[in-house]
Amino acid sequence: MDLQLQGAKVLVTAGANGIGRAVVEAFAAEGARVFTCDLDEAGLSTLPPGIGHCRADVSSRTDVAALFDQALAHLGGLDVLVNNAGIAGPTGRAEEINPEDWDRCVEVCLTSQFNCARLAIPHLRRSKNPSITNLSSAAGKFGFALRTPYAAAKWGVIGFTKSLAIELGDAGIRVNAILPGLVAGDRQRRVLEAKAQQRGVSFAEMERLAFSFTSIKDYVTPQQLADQILFLASPRGRTISGQAISVDGDTRMLS
Ligand code: NAD
Repeated sequence: MDLQLQGAKVLVTAGANGIGRAVVEAFAAEGARVFTCDLDEAGLSTLPPGIGHCRADVSSRTDVAALFDQALAHLGGLDVLVNNAGIAGPTGRAEEINPEDWDRCVEVCLTSQFNCARLAIPHLRRSKNPSITNLSSAAGKFGFALRTPYAAAKWGVIGFTKSLAIELGDAGIRVNAILPGLVAGDRQRRVLEAKAQQRGVSFAEMERLAFSFTSIKDYVTPQQLADQILFLASPRGRTISGQAISVDGDTRMLS
């Protein structure tokens, strides 16, 4: 399938590792021009040649302003914003959580998306195929005990996405959210380990419990998420907007 993304101007946040990296590499493989940022400068330096990058903390409006200056100079405009950056935040009961950890989680998972979208929108208005894709999570549609800051931020991403989709519909700008479930990789392993420890069970037991609530008992891969995100950004996704799209093996509950 030709996604017609040759020459598309794409900005992906947090592209040094994990899902963001898979998205960056997938857009580049389709012939798109890609710029990304991350806190992990060593990770950025191992990206394939041709992908523009800089260090930026997307929760900082100063960093995001500098990111957009560099990205726009590299890309010469903007067709696609992928708000991918996110952190797991603390694991624990609400009354035990350090309030600074709450703030940080909401700033990185939710406020960063506003920080980037507000600077992207004037440029997307000039694009012939404009879109924004925001990373939410299965934790953006279910209650998620012991992860209240993360769940609150990821539910917030859905509200932000659906509201922005209405605001930007007249300009033909699509705005969608992707809700990954259990994604293969280090991050998910760390999250399950923290929950296992909190509950005093083994990692294997925690993993078994997590998959007991999914129909497809397998991890989602970053590549699958990249495939979905590229489709939404392609002209083939022209009329898909305001959607919260789950890629999660049919998760029905979170443990
Ligand atoms: P990851 O931890 O593998 O990678 C995240 C990247 O973000 C890292 O390179 C990190 O350095 C960077 N980063 C962190 N804070 C940043 C900041 N303030 N500014 C810029 N960069 C920053 O995570 P991932 O699994 O690839 O997750 C990507 C997105 O997908 C996140 O929004 C996450 O919440 C969401 N998600 C992941 C899973 C999962 O199981 N991995 C599930 C649901 C949703």
